[in-house]
Amino acid sequence: MFVKRKPPKPEPRAHAVVVGAGVSGLLCARVLSERFDRVTLVERDALPEEAVARKGVPQGRHLHSLAARGSEILEDLFPGFDAELAAAGCPLLDQASDAVTDLSAGRLPRFRSGITMRAASRALIERRIRARLEKDPGIDFLPGREVVGLVPGPKGVSGVRTRLRGDGSAEEIVADLVVDASGTGSRAPRWLEEMGYEAPEETVVDARLGYATRWYRVPEDFPGDWKGVAVLPGWPETTRGGTLRRVEGGLWTAVLIGTGGDYPPTDPEGFVHFAASLHSPAIHDAIKDAEPASPVYGYRRTANRLRHYEKTRLPDNFLVAGDAACALNPSYGQGMTAAALSAMALKTCLDKNRTADLSRRFQRHQRKAVAPCWTATTNSDAQWAAGGLEDLNLARRILYRISEEVMKLAVERERVARTLLGVKNLLEPPTALLRPGILLPALARTTKHRPAKPTPTKSELIAGR
Ligand SMILES: Cc1cc2nc3c(=O)[nH]c(=O)nc-3n(C[C@H](O)[C@H](O)[C@H](O)COP(=O)(O)OP(=O)(O)OC[C@H]3O[C@@H](n4cnc5c(N)ncnc54)[C@H](O)[C@@H]3O)c2cc1C
Repeated sequence: MFVKRKPPKPEPRAHAVVVGAGVSGLLCARVLSERFDRVTLVERDALPEEAVARKGVPQGRHLHSLAARGSEILEDLFPGFDAELAAAGCPLLDQASDAVTDLSAGRLPRFRSGITMRAASRALIERRIRARLEKDPGIDFLPGREVVGLVPGPKGVSGVRTRLRGDGSAEEIVADLVVDASGTGSRAPRWLEEMGYEAPEETVVDARLGYATRWYRVPEDFPGDWKGVAVLPGWPETTRGGTLRRVEGGLWTAVLIGTGGDYPPTDPEGFVHFAASLHSPAIHDAIKDAEPASPVYGYRRTANRLRHYEKTRLPDNFLVAGDAACALNPSYGQGMTAAALSAMALKTCLDKNRTADLSRRFQRHQRKAVAPCWTATTNSDAQWAAGGLEDLNLARRILYRISEEVMKLAVERERVARTLLGVKNLLEPPTALLRPGILLPALARTTKHRPAKPTPTKSELIAGR
């Protein structure tokens, strides 16, 4: 006999506090609002009406690509979000037909891939999400207030300690759940230690990559047939790259990157000079006579940093989300999407309608959800962190040789280029590039193009082999 089960009775959950109103904090708040009577976002910055850069998110002045998977999640959480960005003047670009992508192996084919990107500034994306939350009577914002610690309580934490920016006055905010989404500079490890817990272990993979960004007005008579250009570095010799993309307001954001410590300069002449030194002239050709709309902004805090909260004992009602748990090298353009995947992991855990063990369940779910981003960025950055080919172990050397051939295949074949874009946009897992249709021809070429006499490694030389 079929017995209709009653849905589990929701546990009383009154108030959740989110630390930080960046993209991760906002998305977590959206998800929490479905389960908590009240959600409060505590943000150290003032929160401006306009879509402008803020001091607390210095990365906001730099180009922010929204991967297709991130776009899908935003649309899911905020129906009509893409149409809103379109109405604000953000162009839609097909990532193969409307964009030029120059790898060191050559140019990706231009074809209609169906993988699109809504090109918007980070400030606009964040402002539009915040505007949606401001309409929700269950969500409050407390701007200009910095969280300085956790308040211990019988259930783990019972709230946060805050300090008002300006007069420095202190206040405790009581909460049933606290989510730290305060970004890569998160103090959660220290807050935990103050409560007698251990700080999480960290894995850091640093490609020593620097950014320099300048905004330009798109010339009215610009003849190019693209809306975006990407020039990608290629390990080990090609340290330099960049991206130029049209965003809202008739502007281009031009970002130059240098890897392995080859940082781009932040003076205007040096910026253009660096652009001229890239292995493709596309960005330099576009910006050399264009009218700048900003100074050059620099940024160097770009290491991949994973704090292993999934392995740490935490108070049961304290979670760490977004960059505070897993910060990624920004040049792969996946951080906001990783934050969106974290928020969806939180939704899954809350949908189970249990508070027991929430912290451990969430940190594990989140770790799994962002694993494809972490794998993709760190596999590649481990090479830059290592230095030369001789510093890589055998497995990484083989991986490098195969990925080199996969890139060449992507330049030659639309199907491979499409898979590459699918992986980059988190629509497909990184293993999609190892499917037989790609791996077998890549392996065949690896064998065919194997150097006649392999270069001896440093250790082989030392050992006299
Ligand atoms: C140079 C650069 C370029 C990037 N480009 C891309 C890109 O192209 N595509 C992409 O998807 N991602 C990109 N990212 C990553 C992206 O910015 C983040 O991964 C994403 O926004 C999620 O960040 P977050 O919300 O976790 O943290 P953040 O954006 O850093 O937000 C943290 C918030 O917490 C607040 N805060 C901090 N401490 C406290 C405190 N104690 N009390 C109260 N508030 C506090 C801060 O003021 C801030 O508002 C880039 C990052 C950098 C550095």
